[in-house]
Amino acid sequence: MNGVDGTGYRPPPNSMQRPPGPGGMMPPSQMGHPHQKAMPPSSHPDMVLRNDHFTGMSRANQPPPGQYPPTSMTNQMQNMNINASSQGLQYHGGPPQSYSGPPISLHATSVPGHTPTSGYMNSQANNSMPPGVNYPPTGNIPPNSQPMGMQNMSNPAHRPNVPPVHNSATTSPQYPMGHSHPHGHPNQPNQYVNSPQSYPPRSNQASMPGNQPPMSSPPGMYSQPPMPGQPPMGNQRQFSNQPPMPGQPPMSGQPPMPGQPPMPGQRPMSGQPPMPGQHAMPGQPPMPGQRPMPNQQQPYPGGQQPYPGAPMQQQRKLDPDQMPSPIQVIEDDRSKSTEPFRTDCPGAVPPLVTTDFGVEDCGSASPSYIRCATYSLPSTSEIANDCRVPMALSVQPLAKPRNEAPLSIVDPGPDGPIRCKRCKAYMCPQFKFTDGGRRFQCCMCCAITETPPQYFNHIDHMSQRVDKFHRPELCRGSYELMVTKDYCKNDKFPEAPAYIFAIDVSYNAVKSGLVNLLCENLNALLDDLPREQGAEESAIKVGFFTYDRTLHFYNLKSTLAQPQMLVVSDVSEIFVPLQDGFMVSLKESRSVINSLLEEIPKMFADTRESEIVLGPVVSCAVQAMKAAGCNGKLFLFGTTMPTIDSPGKLKNRDDRKVIGTDKEKGLFSPAGTFYTKLAKDCVEQGCCVDLFLFPNQYMDIATIGQLSLLTGGDIYKYNYFKPEVDGHRFISDLHHDIQRDIVFDAIMRVRTSTGIRAVNFAGAMHMTNTTDVELAGLDCDKAISVELKHDDKISEELGAYVQVALLYTSVGGNRRLRVHNIHLAVCTQISDLYRSCEADVLINYFAKYAVMHAMQQGLQKTKDELIARAATILSAYRKHCAHPSSAGQLILPECLKLLPVYLNCLLKNDSVHSSQEISTDDRSFMRQLVLGMDVAKSQLFFYPLLLPVGAGGPVKAVRCSEDRLVDDKAFLLHNGINSFLWIGSEVDPTWIRDVFGVQSAAQIDIDTGMLRQMDNPASQTLCNIIDGVTAKDSRSSKLVVIRQRDKLEPWFRRFLVEDKVLGAGPSYVDFLCHIHKEIRAILS
Ligand SMILES: [Zn+2]
Repeated sequence: MNGVDGTGYRPPPNSMQRPPGPGGMMPPSQMGHPHQKAMPPSSHPDMVLRNDHFTGMSRANQPPPGQYPPTSMTNQMQNMNINASSQGLQYHGGPPQSYSGPPISLHATSVPGHTPTSGYMNSQANNSMPPGVNYPPTGNIPPNSQPMGMQNMSNPAHRPNVPPVHNSATTSPQYPMGHSHPHGHPNQPNQYVNSPQSYPPRSNQASMPGNQPPMSSPPGMYSQPPMPGQPPMGNQRQFSNQPPMPGQPPMSGQPPMPGQPPMPGQRPMSGQPPMPGQHAMPGQPPMPGQRPMPNQQQPYPGGQQPYPGAPMQQQRKLDPDQMPSPIQVIEDDRSKSTEPFRTDCPGAVPPLVTTDFGVEDCGSASPSYIRCATYSLPSTSEIANDCRVPMALSVQPLAKPRNEAPLSIVDPGPDGPIRCKRCKAYMCPQFKFTDGGRRFQCCMCCAITETPPQYFNHIDHMSQRVDKFHRPELCRGSYELMVTKDYCKNDKFPEAPAYIFAIDVSYNAVKSGLVNLLCENLNALLDDLPREQGAEESAIKVGFFTYDRTLHFYNLKSTLAQPQMLVVSDVSEIFVPLQDGFMVSLKESRSVINSLLEEIPKMFADTRESEIVLGPVVSCAVQAMKAAGCNGKLFLFGTTMPTIDSPGKLKNRDDRKVIGTDKEKGLFSPAGTFYTKLAKDCVEQGCCVDLFLFPNQYMDIATIGQLSLLTGGDIYKYNYFKPEVDGHRFISDLHHDIQRDIVFDAIMRVRTSTGIRAVNFAGAMHMTNTTDVELAGLDCDKAISVELKHDDKISEELGAYVQVALLYTSVGGNRRLRVHNIHLAVCTQISDLYRSCEADVLINYFAKYAVMHAMQQGLQKTKDELIARAATILSAYRKHCAHPSSAGQLILPECLKLLPVYLNCLLKNDSVHSSQEISTDDRSFMRQLVLGMDVAKSQLFFYPLLLPVGAGGPVKAVRCSEDRLVDDKAFLLHNGINSFLWIGSEVDPTWIRDVFGVQSAAQIDIDTGMLRQMDNPASQTLCNIIDGVTAKDSRSSKLVVIRQRDKLEPWFRRFLVEDKVLGAGPSYVDFLCHIHKEIRAILS
C-alpha cells in the first residue's frame, strides 16, 4: 500500500489484499507521571502548536549520536502557533465541547533547534497517575461545527476567525531542562528473567506455566453480519462488506444489503443509508451536502450531526491544515529519502514505512526486519520512566527484503555456529576480536570466548578480522546459519513439512458453492507450494480430509488408481486410520490428488448433514504430523460453529447486552480451555493452523481463533460467502497463503546487551517460558512486538545491542537459524531520545497493547491509559526539550508530531472500540489481525490511504477527511482490509462510462466486489492505481463502490478517520485539544 500516492504509480498488478500480523503482550501500563518544574513565565498567553522539526537529524542523513550538526544551522522548525484562549480548550465533563471561545489564530513560526540540556537532576518524583481522562463517552461526541456535505476543500471562508498564516522567527532555544527524575523503577511485574540459555534443548527448558506473557485473544473482521441464531437464508445476496440478512439486524457497521431498507423498528445503524439510487426519505439520514435537521436523531457515522441540545454553530478550534498532517509527513519523508539507508548509524531513524527506499546492511539489521519506537534508548530507567516512550521493537524476522540484498546463508561446519560461551549469543559484527584474533568478546554479556581453532583468523591494526568482509556474520546485521543436529528435536534432522487441507463438506459449505470452488482451484494452487531456494520443486507433502459430523480420510498413494476414502465416525476418540498414504508427495500422487479434488464435490453434492465437528479435525491433523514426524500447516475451511456433542463443542455466547459494560471483555476471551489446549498441542508438534471461515452467523472466533493465534496462523473470513462475489478474493487469499514464505517449528530468542532485556512479547505466537517465543509457523507477513526494559544503567559510549535469533525448519525440511542484530544508540539527554522516535512503531505497539489489555481490564480503562501515556510522552518533551513558553503552547516533537492523530485513529478503530454496530466475531477477528500486523500494515490500517482518482487531476493522497472529498471526483480509500471507491455526484459521466461501462453512476452494479478492467485509458489508469495501492497487501479486499449520497455512504465515512465518527470518537481537531488539555494538566 505504501508508496502509491503521488504521481508515479508503478502498476504491479496484484489483487487487492491486506495484512495480518501477530499479537499479544505488554505489561500493565504504568502511566507516566511527569515531574513538575517551574516553567519560565510565559511570554504570551497563547496556545502554540508547534512541530519541532530537526531537519537533517531524523531519517537517513542523521548522524550518529554525538555528531549532531549544530542545531542552529539545521533546525528549521515548522511551528504553528495557535492563539487561543486556554479556556477554550477544555472539555467540560461529559461530551467534549467544541471550542467556542475567542478566535484562534494560526501562524507558522520558525523555531530554532534544540540545545542539549544538561543532565538530569533529581527532582521530586510524582508518582500519581495523570488525571483521569474522561474521554467523551461514545455517542456523545460533540457536533462538528461544519455544515455537512459540501465537501469544501479547506476553504478559509468556512473558517472564520482564522487569520492568515505568517512566519515569525524566534531565536535561540535554551530549553529549560532541569528536572526531574526517578520514579523508581517500573512497578511492573517482572516475571521475565534473562536467563542465558542455549537454544537447542527446547525440551529441556522448563516450562513455567503461569509465567507466560498474556496471550492475546482472537479477533474478528469487518463485515460480520448475521447474528447467532439467525441462519442465513438460502439465496441471500452477499455484497461488499456483507450486510445483514433480511430480517437480521445489521451487525457491526455493516450496511444493510443493497436494496434493503432498514427494518422497521430497527435502530438506524450507522451505515444504513438510503437504498442505492434512492433518495433519502424523511427520517433517513441526510445526504451529504444536506444539513441534518436539528433534533433529528441520526446516528450517522462520519457525518457531522449535532447531538441534541448542542449549539448548532460552533467555531472550529484549529484549522486542520495547520495541524500536523500525515500526508505531508509521508511526502516529506519520501522526498528526502533518496539514498539507500545505511544501517551503521546507531540512533538514526530509517525512512518511514510508507517510503520506498533501499537499504545497505552495514552490520546492523535493516528496518525491514526490525523497527523501533525509539532508536536511541535512554541510559537509565529514570529517563525511561520520565518520558514513557516504550523501548519497543517490531520484529519481522522473515520480512521480504525490499530493495536490498537477500540474506546470505552461512555454513559454519560440523561444529555448528560460533557463539558466546556464556550467553550463547551468535557471532555477529559487534563481537570484538582480541588477543590477535584468538579470543572474542561478546557485545551482549561482555564474556570472552576462545576463538575455535578452525574459526581463527588474524586481525588488522583496527582489530578487525582480515576475513571480515568474506563472512556475513562478521559484516552483516542479518544472515542465516546452517545448524547441526544439536539444534533439532531429538537430535534428528527434520522431515519436510506437510500441508493438510481439511474441507468442510456440510450442507452450508456445499450449497454455498464453497466446496466446488475450492476443489476446482486447489489443484492449480498446489503448483505454487513454497520451495527451498534453488530447488526445482517443493518438498512439502500434502494430505486431505473432509469433514462434517464425521471425518473422512483419503489414501492418496501413488500406486492407487483412485483415492480411497476412510470414514471415522466416532469422533470422541479420534485417530488417523492410515499411516501410509495420507500425506503424500505432490509430484508422485498428482493424478490421485486430481481425482480426489474432482470427486469431493460430487460425493457430497446431496449432503443433508448440517453440523460439523472441529476439535477432532485439528487433533487429527496434529496426530498425522506426529505419526509422520513432520510439522507443517493445517488449512481448515469451516462454515459453522461446532455445536454437536463432540470434543470442542461450542455454544452461542454472543450476548450483545454486555457490550459497553465491564463484562464485555468476556466476549473476547476464549470459552473454556479446550481450544487453547489444542492450540498448544499444535505448537508442540509445529502445526500452524490457518482458519478459512465462511460464517453465516456467530462462530465464536474469540475461542476457535486461539488455534491460529497461538500457532502463528491466520484467520480469513468471508461472511455470507458467495462464489461470484467473494470467490476471487478467497482464492487469491488462499493462493497467497499457500505460496508465501514460511517456516515451521520455530523458536525465537531475543538477546540483549547488559542492562536491558526483553520482557514482553506480542504476536501470533505462544510462550511457555519467559524467553522463548514458540512459533508453530511464522510467515513473511507477521511481526512480533518486543518490549525492552532496563535492568541497569546502559552506557552511552557502548550503545545497546539486540540479537534476534530464529531457529526454524524450512519448507525444504532444513533446520536453520536466522539472526538479526541491531545496534541502538544510548542517550543521556532526553532530547536525543525524542529525535530518534518513530511514531508508526509506537502506534503499532500501542495497538497491540490495547488489544491485549482490553482483554484483561476492559476497553475504557485501556484507552484512558493510552491517552494518559501519550500525554505523558508529549508533556515530557514539552518539559525537557522545548524552550520556555507558556503552558498554553502545544509543542510536539518532530518525530512524534503525528502521535495525536494516529492515536485518535487507533482509539476509534473497531478493533478496540466498543460498538454495537460491529459483530463480536468481526471484532475478535480484527483484534487478531492487529496482533499480527507489522508497522507498515498498522500504519495503513489505522490511517487509510485516500486518493482522488478519475477525471483528471493529480493522483495524490489527501487527508482522510470528508473535507477533502469533492463532488466532481472519485476517491479510492484503502486500509489494507477494506477498499472503497467513492464516486462524487458530479463526476464526469464519460469517466463513469469508461470505468464501469454504464451510462450513469446510478447504473453501476455495486455488488460485484471488484472492478473489471475495460479497454480504455481511464479504466486502465484506475486499475493500475488500485493494483499499485494493493500491491503490498497480504490479503485481498473487496472493492465497495459508494456513490455520493448513497445509502452506503455512512459506512464509508467511518473510515474518514480525521473526522468525528458518531459513537466512535472525536475528530482530530477535538482530540488534539483534548490531548493538549491532558498535557497541560500534567505540566501544571
Ligand atoms: Zn555473551
